Amino acid sequence: MFLSSLAIANDGMWLPLLLEKLNEKEMKSLGMKISAKDIYNVNSGSLKDAIVSFGGFCTGEVISTKGLVLTNHHCGLESVQSHSTIDHNYIRDGFWAKNFGEELSNPKLYVTFIARMEDVSKQILTGVTPSMTESERQSAVDKNINEIKKTAKKESYQEILVKGFFEANQYYLFVTETYKDVRLVGAPPSSIGNFGQDTDNWMWPRHTGDFSMFRIYAGKDNKPAEYAPGNVPYIPKRSLSISLDGVAEGDFTMVFGFPGKTTEYLPAVAVQQIMEVNNPAKIAIRDKALAVMNEFMRKDEQIKIQYTKKYSTIANPWKKWRGEILGLTRTDAINKKKIYEAEFQKRINLPAGRQGANPQWKEQYGNVLSELEAAYAELKPLGKARDYYFEINSKIELFTVARRINALRNAKNNGGKYDYAEGLTKLKDTLPDFYKNYSPVLDKKMFEVLISMYVNDQDSKMVSPLLLMQINAFNKDVSKLADDIYGGAEYTAANKIVPVLEKNPAELLERTKTSKASVLYDDMLATYNREVASKLNEVQNRINKLQRLYMQAQMEVMKERNFYPDANSTLRVTYGNVKGYNARDGVKYDFITYLDGLVEKYIPGDYEFDVPEKLRSLYKTKDYGQYGKNGKMPVCFIATNHTTGGNSGSPALDAYGNLVGLNFDRAWEGVMSDISYDPSICRNIMVDIRYVLFIMDKYAGAGYLVKEMKLVHPKKGK
Ligand code: GLU
Repeated sequence: MFLSSLAIANDGMWLPLLLEKLNEKEMKSLGMKISAKDIYNVNSGSLKDAIVSFGGFCTGEVISTKGLVLTNHHCGLESVQSHSTIDHNYIRDGFWAKNFGEELSNPKLYVTFIARMEDVSKQILTGVTPSMTESERQSAVDKNINEIKKTAKKESYQEILVKGFFEANQYYLFVTETYKDVRLVGAPPSSIGNFGQDTDNWMWPRHTGDFSMFRIYAGKDNKPAEYAPGNVPYIPKRSLSISLDGVAEGDFTMVFGFPGKTTEYLPAVAVQQIMEVNNPAKIAIRDKALAVMNEFMRKDEQIKIQYTKKYSTIANPWKKWRGEILGLTRTDAINKKKIYEAEFQKRINLPAGRQGANPQWKEQYGNVLSELEAAYAELKPLGKARDYYFEINSKIELFTVARRINALRNAKNNGGKYDYAEGLTKLKDTLPDFYKNYSPVLDKKMFEVLISMYVNDQDSKMVSPLLLMQINAFNKDVSKLADDIYGGAEYTAANKIVPVLEKNPAELLERTKTSKASVLYDDMLATYNREVASKLNEVQNRINKLQRLYMQAQMEVMKERNFYPDANSTLRVTYGNVKGYNARDGVKYDFITYLDGLVEKYIPGDYEFDVPEKLRSLYKTKDYGQYGKNGKMPVCFIATNHTTGGNSGSPALDAYGNLVGLNFDRAWEGVMSDISYDPSICRNIMVDIRYVLFIMDKYAGAGYLVKEMKLVHPKKGK
């Protein structure tokens, strides 16, 4: 029964190019009213022409014929932040440009359209043999990629991208168009755009208006152009119509976007290691790091401002990893994988002549699972050491400075990949900003707490001998060592380092010989390289090769399963139905939330749950205009779409391809969907497009932007 359920699991992040062949029938059975060609078609405009990769880390969609792009608040936040000052605090108060002239440029931001995609597996894998090492294989593949980049058909303003799929068993080519003049049009205040913050993050029921708005500008010929004041709003091949009818439970929806990374085809042993070794190690370290930050942020307003963003950056994956362990445990993911693997092995071992037997399988794939098992046993201590090293090192900010200065010294001494002049400019650019948000007292406490974990919680051979010596010299008292290192450190204050960097960088590099932080960092890195990195790379390469073989084997042997490639930041479609879920014993969640729930969560003055006065007053008067329904204002809804990070900002489309919502998160019980999707509890969270328009129009007074959009009523046949 479990195996037959594989074929109807409803999960998947599908390639738009293959929808017609693989998915159209199922999509229609779930309620879709348009065809696969309406979604992806290279010959005439299709929905894909309205979808962009937003800055390479999120998704956006074009919603007007003048190049207006919608994405999440958390995706546009960096741009909003870069334009904010004490006097014009756009993060706190929101921002809306009243005309084209007020739209704000963002030098580093870009959006990328996909013009077309093509299966190029055959060309890319020419000359690749199974006996090649990973690096030999990579060189052969790179050579073929370079070749294809030279010969593939494209326009002068387009680019070619080639990516591996199914563990690099297949390759696809993408012809892309990147627009680099993307201007900020508007964003709600963070009390709306990030309502609920860390407490509500990864949770349902949700009331976050997680959106912001940009506009693509093009050269006069409508083609990509570098930023110039004279650029004009881009006229898209396609923009999305917006449905004001909302969704009902059971409605078809699909999410179109650029999901970042999933690992759905790992063996049970790998999932077990994530659950029992890697996630717990990273969580334990972050538990302590967050507690240190929290302690200081609570008692010092200045530190709170400096560390709010850093806190969320650490807390966001930390919370997800915890949910992941719970979800994998609750859905018995390891056992399910083991049953699947037993069936896989049984089919491979079938004696010749039996129905379904293939005598070649045994030779080709007979040992793949046992070899993976052995490789993961070797990986276990190395993976834990890697997590300890990187988690701890990246959270002690004194080491962040030491790492960068030491790297610059190495570049000067040895040349190589990292260019000295480039590195110097970058350090001069970024170091002053780093110190604006640096608290040495907090960092010293972080050092004490995390260095104790580094020393006490792992095998002593993974620990820097110099550090052990220093700790022993202070009678094992890490806080004394911290006093010593932070007391005299040249790296703890901007004025001890930034002027030297400006005037005489050579002197600064010379200091790495005596600076306690630099010397200790060097020894920790050397220890890691000696005891962990080289062995880890070897084992990881072996695992990658075996995982590629296992992927190929699964696709050949487990034929009834619908295989989709793991997310790799390329354009995908996922689809499902609007649906509530049973969160836990006795608790059933509805599929939609309303403004009523937002006001219920209101805590005056709270940094997470404050509600702006104007929104409360609109609620009181029920002044929802054309966006409300039966006197209520919908805010968020959930569906069974299989999404991940990178799908942030993706459009949720109805059965006709109209925009009904904006994807921004997943619900806590199902965040293990990156590793194992379960249709009973995996839900993506979207902000209802009517709430987005209501906030723009009624709250922010930016109704002139709504006029640019095409609003429709598909349920009323309009
Ligand atoms: N909200 C998620 C994040 O912050 C992105 C969307 C998802 O992973 O479902 O990473």
